[in-house]
Amino acid sequence: MNNATFPEWRGRLEYVCIGCGSHFPASNLLYTCPKCGSVLLLEDMAAPELKKTSGVKWREIFDGRMGTRIPALSGIFRFYELIAPLPDEEDIVWLGEGNTPEIEAAKRFQQEVGISFSFKNDGQNPSASFKDRGMACAFSYLKWLCRHHGWKEVLTICASTGDTSAAAALYAAYVGPPLKSVVLLPMGKVTPQQLSQPLASGAVVLELPGVFDDCMRVVEILAKKYRVALLNSKNSWRILGQQSYAFEIAQWHDWNMAGLCLFVPVGNAGNITAIMAGCLKMYELGIIDALPRIFGVQSEHANPVFRYYGQPEDKRIWQPVKVRPSVAQAAMIGNPVSFPRVKYLAEKYVQVAGEKSFQIVQVSEQQIIEAMLAANRHGHIACTQGGECLAGLKNALAQGLIGAGEKAILDSTAHSLKFSGFQEKYFNDSFEPEYEIKPDPALANRPEELLANVEAASLPVDELAARGADAVANRLNLIEIESEK
Ligand SMILES: *Cc1c(COP(=O)(O)O)cnc(C)c1O
Ligand SMILES: [Zn+2]
Repeated sequence: MNNATFPEWRGRLEYVCIGCGSHFPASNLLYTCPKCGSVLLLEDMAAPELKKTSGVKWREIFDGRMGTRIPALSGIFRFYELIAPLPDEEDIVWLGEGNTPEIEAAKRFQQEVGISFSFKNDGQNPSASFKDRGMACAFSYLKWLCRHHGWKEVLTICASTGDTSAAAALYAAYVGPPLKSVVLLPMGKVTPQQLSQPLASGAVVLELPGVFDDCMRVVEILAKKYRVALLNSKNSWRILGQQSYAFEIAQWHDWNMAGLCLFVPVGNAGNITAIMAGCLKMYELGIIDALPRIFGVQSEHANPVFRYYGQPEDKRIWQPVKVRPSVAQAAMIGNPVSFPRVKYLAEKYVQVAGEKSFQIVQVSEQQIIEAMLAANRHGHIACTQGGECLAGLKNALAQGLIGAGEKAILDSTAHSLKFSGFQEKYFNDSFEPEYEIKPDPALANRPEELLANVEAASLPVDELAARGADAVANRLNLIEIESEK
């Protein structure tokens, strides 16, 4: 079935305040409730019409679009009706995001860990992190918005732990005018690879002394005072796009999510919000008939959500924390803007799927980096946040929170290459003390220099090759074939 066409149907999207319940039309940019200041979620008021189509039929439609060659129905947009059925075909910006593979962990790796698990490689998105899912949706909406308002110039702005800015700059560069990208980064707190991305895309890159939470406050002030498009996950359009992660897992498992446990690193908490909302949406439409369990994972160095849920249920008090350096740097956030959304959705989630369907586990920095290295050594491209998920799985297993018959899906939210500097620090034992990481020298891997004392430039090429081969053979104790006979 490959005869998909872009849908005619449009939803009726409205911002809904999770604080006071007010509704606002989607025809303008809005980040917080004008009445009470709380965060918003986007809801499709026409969603009940989607129920006229059976869950089985929806599955057929989405499966049918798998093979389409229509860009506007590719990747995350094959779930158009579930994501943001507002932009027209000409507005959709698809840069190849979505449809990332779920890779079964190497068999011996699963045996070592003691449970069945896989990585969903969201580092295989165009800017090498899951942030592209949300940006594709946000930029499609922005194009639609600019067209409808006739806006001549719109500055897109975001605070970032690295990957949001990489994604925002990439999509803005692709779309071009009237959009122009500005990113605000905590100085020295993003990796060189991440920093190179918005620079390469031609964004205006501004650095602020401080941590992510400080940058976030700055862009919040700007978004209130000026007409700029805020692209942090406070922007609910991003949450809609990121729901595609949940849809893809369901589809990958033939729409059967029973027994699945999704492990997600929690920073600003947009991703876990999106995944819960996406699962609930599919459940309400009868596209899936069992919800997966959701495990949020946080580092001891940035753990406000873990702390919140660690308190007795009737006495929980929300308190931001001051972050300490973390190798899971993309999730190093002490005051997540989406926390109220998490609380709101987690309540709904456990009502439907049971008390144990939403949990937050905590891991140490040492565990995170060693889990990332272990994953990489078993052929996976997990980043430090993917390592954080694996460490979370191990802790959940040790605490008996997950067990036989279940399967864990770890969100490797970015590509390992973005975080190779932390691997280097581990190998060279050069972590600053605040990280609290003591490398195991046995895990260090460094390049070894061959023919260290030879002046290679002065040798004839044949000679260099012969000596080089000898040096390799010596290093590896190779036995000549001749002498074996
Ligand atoms: C942004 C990011 C996170 C944290 O996601 P939130 O939605 O902020 O919780 C985790 N990992 C990577 C690689 C990220 O870029
Ligand atoms: Zn409100």
